[in-house]
Amino acid sequence: MAQKEQDELLKARDRTLSAFREDLEQEWKAPFYFIQGADPQFGLMKAYAIGDCGSGGDEWEEELRLTQQAVQAINQLNPKPKFFVLCGDLIHGMPGTPWREAQVRDLKNVLTGLSRDIPVVFVSGNHDLGNTPTPETIEDYCQQWGDDYFSFWVAGVFFLVLNSQLYFDASKCPELKQAQDAWLGQQLAIAGERKCRHAIVFQHIPLFLKASDEDHDYFNLEKSIRLELLEKFQKAGVKAVFSGHYHRNAGGSYKGLEMVVSSAIGCQLGEDTHGLRAVVVTAEKIVHRYYSLDELSDHGVGKDLTALINQN
Ligand SMILES: [Zn+2]
Repeated sequence: MAQKEQDELLKARDRTLSAFREDLEQEWKAPFYFIQGADPQFGLMKAYAIGDCGSGGDEWEEELRLTQQAVQAINQLNPKPKFFVLCGDLIHGMPGTPWREAQVRDLKNVLTGLSRDIPVVFVSGNHDLGNTPTPETIEDYCQQWGDDYFSFWVAGVFFLVLNSQLYFDASKCPELKQAQDAWLGQQLAIAGERKCRHAIVFQHIPLFLKASDEDHDYFNLEKSIRLELLEKFQKAGVKAVFSGHYHRNAGGSYKGLEMVVSSAIGCQLGEDTHGLRAVVVTAEKIVHRYYSLDELSDHGVGKDLTALINQN
């Protein structure tokens, strides 16, 4: 199977993704699916085991193995997913910590094992940018993984990737938050004008975990920012927001907009299994299911997905 070279990992540039040509992807064609994963977070398990979650660990064999299993499972899926979106916390080492470079290198090595015809869509997480990002940490991320926010079309469906850290704490880069806000306003207007079949958002930090009015904590966005985004999304017709960060499955809805929180490929903080979510997009609906990596490696999942695609 053809595999990507390390420097061939596709990066979003100029606020879009060249894997999908905008001029060819405007029209709805037929149901398809994609795979969502989150938080491979190389280094968290070790850091968690030694009770030091913040500063990064020096071993990540287990996360490496799990991410390899994820890549192998995705490669053998039939039918093939349109893309694999990785919703942030690619690695555990925060900007400026010693293990970061090796973690980035190892993750890129694993991801180059993904079949060439399945693009990876990168979403930035708090560990990738820092809890309080700066222009420098964001620039570093963009160099390594591509633009921190961008949009792309697949078969009439409009996808938006956001930098949720700018909504968590933009105190050290307020102008970058303003720039993303202005861009988001334009994109949501485009979603309305071009009458996309669906609009779907990817971001690392969930807007909320279970209820749109829940209290703010580490795992969701602050209430006023959350409600502002929910209203903007809902008015523009966004159907679903997919995120990670929680290391558990969760979710809820707000005026018909579904918030989907997926557990981690790597370290689990609850009772879920290491896994990935398959998201089937049909003319009318967005149907999704979280699979453990073991289930996904099973050839039966392809049939399962085909059935979902054909039923809806
Ligand atoms: Zn996170």
